[in-house]
Amino acid sequence: MNVSIVWFRDDLRVADNPALLAATGEGSAVALYVLDEESPGIRALGGAVKWWLHYALVDLRAELAQLGIELILRRGPGVGVVTELAAELGAGALYWNRRYGGPEREVDAAVKSWAGDKGIHAESFQANLLHEPWKVRTGAGNPYQVFTPFWRTVSTEDFRAPLGHPDPGSGFGAPLPESDGLESWNLLPTTPDWAGGLRENWQPTAAAGHELLADFLNERVGDYSDARDRPDQRGTSRLSPYLRWGQLSPFQIWAGLAQIRQSGPTSHSSTPAGSTGPAVFASELGWREFCWHQLYHHPDLATTNLRPQFDHFPWRTAGGDERSAEHLAAWQQGKTGIPMVDAGQRELWHTGVMHNRVRMVAASFLVKNLGFDWRVGEQWFWDTLIDADAASNPANWQWVAGSGADASPYFRIFNPLTQAKKFDPAAKYVSRWVPEVLSSDYPEPIVDLQVTRREALESYASIKA
Ligand code: FAD
Repeated sequence: MNVSIVWFRDDLRVADNPALLAATGEGSAVALYVLDEESPGIRALGGAVKWWLHYALVDLRAELAQLGIELILRRGPGVGVVTELAAELGAGALYWNRRYGGPEREVDAAVKSWAGDKGIHAESFQANLLHEPWKVRTGAGNPYQVFTPFWRTVSTEDFRAPLGHPDPGSGFGAPLPESDGLESWNLLPTTPDWAGGLRENWQPTAAAGHELLADFLNERVGDYSDARDRPDQRGTSRLSPYLRWGQLSPFQIWAGLAQIRQSGPTSHSSTPAGSTGPAVFASELGWREFCWHQLYHHPDLATTNLRPQFDHFPWRTAGGDERSAEHLAAWQQGKTGIPMVDAGQRELWHTGVMHNRVRMVAASFLVKNLGFDWRVGEQWFWDTLIDADAASNPANWQWVAGSGADASPYFRIFNPLTQAKKFDPAAKYVSRWVPEVLSSDYPEPIVDLQVTRREALESYASIKA
């Protein structure tokens, strides 16, 4: 019997999964997930994202089982693992949904070329982004560097409707090669087990992602324009980790949103007529697309300043002097004496996310007031965020630092005290995460905000010159 392999990567869902549909359309299918931390250039996953991956794979395996499809887990370099399994099974076809990072594309191209040599059909699909980064170009034929014209171009496209899931009964009847045991991958922390807060706050299943989406579209999107900036309110969707692993697809979110935007408020929706919330939310999905657009065109986004003049910036680095080590530890642990920064870092450590407004404030404080290289902060977020991805994390850090595409100018330095007054006026967010904020146990600020602001601007003047 001719078997197809569907290779899952950042698309751990059974609905709206074109690769899975193609594989099952051919006859019988076997699913594969490869934990690849060995191919050249592939960045090892951060701790929080690994925690999510463990449960997302448990969930995917159960969903696939309902369709009669087995999930095989293998660890190792992508090309070797996929080609070996294809040969073992005598597979007639390989299907996957596209990835956009440089090293990942090289792996995929190598597998495709191997398949071509062996006469095996290999096909990839668009599933994780609304746009294909190589198709969207400026009038001059270049990749976009500025968000607004990028999104104006992309958002007027007619995106496809989400696809259903395959009918049950497409599994492979014959005995299958062995799968790794998920436990043997040690994706969950043990000693110490730092994931208690993650377990309290998240359900890493596709079904939970769909429930959150429905709740957001029915109850919250109408107020999104203002509420999205308020860490003291539940104003955002909290969908980012589900998007990170593809348990929800952007097409599914777009379709739900389009319904509200076209039909206006319905009896199920609390969106008031004329609300700008849905359009603002759509443009945040646009920022996600823009980050991936940048990564596609700059595969070294996590390591290299998009604006080369920042190569000369006199940053502090992680392995610097003792005082630098103390400052970095204070920032990571939420003990800087700056309440909004500390609240954000503690929220991050406990829940695996930090509110977007606070991410900007905490990142600005690290890069501008403490003078650290943005890559130091990016690495910390990479390890601690449950939504950390290879595009959004570095692109946003470069945005804050001023070194990125369409970035906030370096001289725009957030004042974390003013930000707190504006976006957390009753200090509800801060006192939730830093209950000792008003007591004598709370430290004095580790740096003077005005002095460090001035120093940052002087350093910036030096690279401009
Ligand atoms: P919502 O406000 O509900 O937005 C909906 C979706 O839009 C998000 O789930 C996300 O997919 C997308 N989105 C919103 N804002 C942005 C943005 N600025 N850039 C890219 N996509 C966006 N987001 C990540 O998904 N992964 C990261 O690793 C990441 N790192 C960040 C680092 C820094 C320094 C900063 C300032 C922002 C970072 N963001 C990152 C963007 C943003 O903070 C999160 O996407 C958002 O907080 C997730 O919460 P939400 O799902 O409730 O967002």
